[in-house]
Parts: sequence; C-alpha cells; structure tokens
Amino acid sequence: MRHIVLLGSTGSIGTQTLDVLRHQPGCACVEALAAGGHRLDLLEQQTREFHPQLVAVYEETAARDLSIRLKDMDVRVVSGMEGLLGAVALESADMVVTAMVGMIGLEPTVEAIRRHKTIALANKETLVCAGALIMQMAREEGVQILPVDSEHSAIFQCLDGRGPETVRRILLTASGGPFRGWTWEQLKDVRPEQALKHPNWSMGAKITIDSATMMNKGLEMIEAKWLFDVRPEQIQVVVHPQSIVHSAVEFTNGSVIAQMGVPDMRLPIQEALEYPKRGALTVEPLDLFAKSPLTFEKPDEDVFRSIRLAREALIRGGLYPAVFNAANEKAVAAFLAGSIGFTDIFHRVEAALERYDAVAHPQTYTLEDVLEIGRSL
Ligand code: NAD
Ligand code: MG
Repeated sequence: MRHIVLLGSTGSIGTQTLDVLRHQPGCACVEALAAGGHRLDLLEQQTREFHPQLVAVYEETAARDLSIRLKDMDVRVVSGMEGLLGAVALESADMVVTAMVGMIGLEPTVEAIRRHKTIALANKETLVCAGALIMQMAREEGVQILPVDSEHSAIFQCLDGRGPETVRRILLTASGGPFRGWTWEQLKDVRPEQALKHPNWSMGAKITIDSATMMNKGLEMIEAKWLFDVRPEQIQVVVHPQSIVHSAVEFTNGSVIAQMGVPDMRLPIQEALEYPKRGALTVEPLDLFAKSPLTFEKPDEDVFRSIRLAREALIRGGLYPAVFNAANEKAVAAFLAGSIGFTDIFHRVEAALERYDAVAHPQTYTLEDVLEIGRSL
C-alpha cells in the first residue's frame, strides 16, 4: 500500500485522486493533504474522511481558520511554502502526488525528490520549466517519476520499460479543444466562458484554457521530451477528437503501440497509484462500438501557434521552456480576469520568448534561475 502526500487535493486531479481511493481503498492511504485556501469546506471534509496526519493550507489566515474547525481531530495544520515542504518531507510518506496547478509546484517537487519519494506527476508546469534539473535529480536520487497526465501515462504504458533508442516517434494525441477547426479571426472574439467549456474533459480553469489554446499540448510536448528523453522532432501531435487513444509510440521497426481507455482522469491516476500492479475497475469500461469511428487529423499550427512556439522553446533549450510556461501562466490569468483577449495569450508568449535574453542565460541553469523567470515575467 502507498502512503501518499496529495498536493492540490481540492482541485480536479486532487478530488479525482481521492475518488480513486474511495473505490480502491487498499491501494493507498493519505498521510498529508495540501491545497490553497479557497475551498476550505471541501478541505475540511476531505480531512475528516481521509484522516491525514498533516494538512497544509497555503494562506496563513485560511490555515488558522481550518485548524480551529478541526480542533476535535488529531491533525497538524501548517501553512505557506514551508508547510508544503514539511508535508512532502513526512517520514511516513513514500509517494507525492503533485496535483497543484502552476510553477508553485516546483519547490515541493524538488524537495520530494530529495526525500526519495516516488512522484506521481500531474503538475506538468514543473517539468516544463525545470525538466533538466528535475530529471537529473531524480536519476541521481534513484527516484521514479510516474506520469499522471493521460497522454504521458499512455506513453509510459506503451513503452513498458523500453528505452528511447527503441523509439522512432511519440504520437501525442490531442482532443483539439472546443475551437478545433476555427480560424484565427474567429478565435479573436473568444470569451472566458466559451473557452472554459471543454468537449471531453472536466478540469481546472487553467488547464481548460490551455486546452482551448492548445498551449496544453505545447506544455505536454516539453513534458514528453523530459519524461521519455526524445528529441523535439520525434514528437508528433495528432488531433483525435474522441479522446479514446490517449497517445501512442511508434517504435524503430514501425510497430505502433497505442493505449486506449475512456476519457476519465481517474484511470491514469489509478495507474500511477497502483503501478506496477493493475487493480480493479474504477472507471466505466471502454465500449469501442459506442465510440466508433475514431478519427485522426493533423493540428492546424498556423492557427494554434502554441505547438510551434513550444517546439521552438524546446529546440532552443535552456530556460526557454520556463519562459514559455511562465508567460503562458501570466497570460491565462490575465485572460480569465478579463484584461486581455484570447489571441493575446499567443502574442504574450511569443513576445516573451522573443524578449528573453538567452545570452545571459546559458543552457544549464539552477532552481533559482527558474524561480526568477517566474517572478520577472
Ligand atoms: P485545479 O485548479 O482544479 O486545482 C489546483 C489545486 O492546486 C487546488 O487544490 C488548489 O487549491 C491547489 N493550489 C493552487 N495554488 C496553491 C498553493 N499556492 N498552495 C497549495 N495549493 C495550491 O487544477 P487541476 O485541473 O487539478 O490541475 C492540476 C495540475 O494537473 C495542473 O498542473 C494540470 O496541468 C495538471 N493536469 C490536470 C488534468 C485535469 O484533468 N484536470 C489533466 C492532466 C494534467
Ligand atoms: Mg494531458
């Protein structure tokens, strides 16, 4: 049985992780929960249901409020970055599920690797902005990183332990989001409430916007490069609107292995929690007859420039992916706040990559360099 620390327990991935544990109570117990303070009722209810020994709430006032509410329970409530780092360092935990959104997940993930915890990685922004550092640390510390992102879970399952020398291409599938087939002109008028409606997946606000711009696929190309040690030109994005094939690997000899399943994040979450075992069914079984036909298209990179921008950031290397990620995080927040338009997200990311002075920052970097990019954009 796993002993997990769940970072981001009140979000989409966090709540679905706890739902997997409700169905499969034998696969893991919860040592700590961590979240932001804006859904305190839910965090209180989760604490009462799963009995962690520690709860970390980022904001201090919310943490104080929660500790008063939980007076009758034997649980420690902590706050701030220190609280998050304390949660991942718990002796009794052997796995950290990183389900926080954004670069805030970087330091806790680094600390979890230092403490030799297996990482179930949902927080893709971490790998995008500091992939070289994270992967090197994980190798040195002998820590396994199990992908939770559905595409990367699929690729991990297709590879089944085979190395990058066996791979010709990664076929990274994408639903195409709610604006598949739209023109650039049409995208200009998209409002937040339209972009927040995804056809296949129910997710947090940030990743839902990332899916609408296909920045999510750009982030996932970079995530795939680091997880599977492939070159940028080996990653082919394939638009597959039904979201049944979660990705595929084309091997050097032309054999292609794809992983399929219903579009339900509880499946890749369970896969990571139970790895290498395969437990009982939590999600609906896949009915291929009901889902047919399955279709595949090339992405329109002239409209969804996100894919091209991500590829460029990846080829330039160094801190370019961190700039790509940080500029996107800021632009998505501005779009959701109503202060910029939908296509401005692409402009902002492109401008940040152009402005970035690569001469001052060579290919190798430190954690502090990455955090500075986050602060400076
Ligand atoms: P979400 O917005 O639904 O939830 C985010 C969680 O992070 C919440 O619990 C929130 O309280 C917590 N959080 C935010 N700031 C925090 C802080 N400063 N300190 C502590 N906790 C904080 O997001 P989500 O959709 O669950 O996505 C989480 C991550 O998983 C993202 O990196 C996303 O890209 C990735 N992911 C999500 C999905 C999905 O289906 N939702 C799929 C693949 C990957
Ligand atoms: Mg994904």
